[in-house]
Amino acid sequence: MNKLIAANWKMYKTIGEAADTVRDLTRLAGELPADRDVLIFPPFTAVAAVSAALGVRPGYFVGGQDVYTKAEGAFTGEISPGMLKDAGCDYALTGHSERRHVLGESDELVGEKTLFALQSGLRVILCIGEKLDEREAGKLEAVLKRQLTAGLKGLPANTPAESITIAYEPVWAIGTGKVAGPAEIKEAHALVRKLLASLVPGIAKDMRILYGGSVKADNAKEILAIDNVNGLLVGGASLQAAVFKDIILA
Ligand code: PGA
Repeated sequence: MNKLIAANWKMYKTIGEAADTVRDLTRLAGELPADRDVLIFPPFTAVAAVSAALGVRPGYFVGGQDVYTKAEGAFTGEISPGMLKDAGCDYALTGHSERRHVLGESDELVGEKTLFALQSGLRVILCIGEKLDEREAGKLEAVLKRQLTAGLKGLPANTPAESITIAYEPVWAIGTGKVAGPAEIKEAHALVRKLLASLVPGIAKDMRILYGGSVKADNAKEILAIDNVNGLLVGGASLQAAVFKDIILA
């Protein structure tokens, strides 16, 4: 299974800046190693431009940072899977901690988004992760189980493993510079794999599990070498092409 290195650009970059970054990135990174895939999540306004700037380039994919649960309708401000596909997306992100904790999305809504995006032909990266107080209260397993159970609810048994990926992102490590230590990452990823084995037994061992939270060029290689880490979801350190290139090639 290829390692997936994903860039979450959040609410950064104009259309021009996003297209320039992707052009710089492909020039600097060159042909990707055979075991690496790269996925860019630009802001919605820049998805089409990023997709056009990438052209047909093996190993590179584009995704939407969020997606709604309906194909179309009176849902002001939302975006459908079909619209994302039309703009060049292969993937959608669901359940990012900022959607859950800043914008108030429930576990159930995240599950509905995940299922509808998959049914609509997108691949999905479903984000999960505990807050610091939850970890300190010994609730790591309970939180991950609750988020995975709701996030994967109704997943058809014939869903291909490559269509659904989990990103484990401890909330306390996102944008804080506090990366989880190798032992913490190993423990959490093993837990996710175990929970997947009971929730989606047919595909659990072949699903990718990404780590996210303060990944940088100087810790990417070490994190990628940890058991059950099949890629990275990178925020701040993905904004500059020269830095993100070093993470892709780590
Ligand atoms: P960070 O963000 O790399 O800036 O911590 C990760 C994320 O939010 O996906």
